[in-house]
Amino acid sequence: MSDVLSSLRDVADALTNPSQHRTPRHAWPKDRRNRNKIKLDPHVVVLPGLLTQVAALAFPLGVDGEEGASARSVPQSRPPGNPLALAAYLDISIALKRWAAEFGVQGRETSYATLRGVLGAAPAQPYDRQCRLLSDMHEWLSRCEEIAGWVTRDPILTVPCPVCTYRTLHVDLEESTVRCISCGARWAKQESENVGSLSALGRYATKYREEAGSAAAAARAEERRRKAARWGRAPGAEPP
Ligand SMILES: [Zn+2]
Repeated sequence: MSDVLSSLRDVADALTNPSQHRTPRHAWPKDRRNRNKIKLDPHVVVLPGLLTQVAALAFPLGVDGEEGASARSVPQSRPPGNPLALAAYLDISIALKRWAAEFGVQGRETSYATLRGVLGAAPAQPYDRQCRLLSDMHEWLSRCEEIAGWVTRDPILTVPCPVCTYRTLHVDLEESTVRCISCGARWAKQESENVGSLSALGRYATKYREEAGSAAAAARAEERRRKAARWGRAPGAEPP
């Protein structure tokens, strides 16, 4: 089997296979002189596959087991659950249907079944199609992992990068650094060659927010003045 085909299978497994989480449990004997803890059976939690977890978040009342992958929501006047999960779930279902059509596979009842059908037809497809499917599936996996809370993204600062002005300043909490993923500029606790200091970035961010705040206040004052002028009242006058 080619590398791409085995990777396809691995990613599909990661999306659909239930996972087991074991937490060890212990008890302590009543006799205080005995310091040896007693091992109990571990607490085992089996989580459904990632796709089902995302479907369950998207449609909190409409999902049941593996069939939940089809996630038919119960008709009712309630908004669905997590909007990010809903968007991801719909994107993945639509993409799967598109892949099924491209591979000449009949659409199936559930997303799981469609995914299996697409995988079954993958070996007969041209190499570049297999690669495109793999890249799609990698994206689905990382989206599902993030929504299910398995991975957390770096926080992003709300101010634009002082070097390139894109709002792409990512904070690395473990390393205590800030990096712009657009231009590659970096800030760290210790300033060094080509690396700015975090305190300088902090001063810039404070100044930027203050300036943005006063610019917004000026724009609001100007808007009020124009409205007042349009209605023939003096600026700042109370409405009658
Ligand atoms: Zn930048």
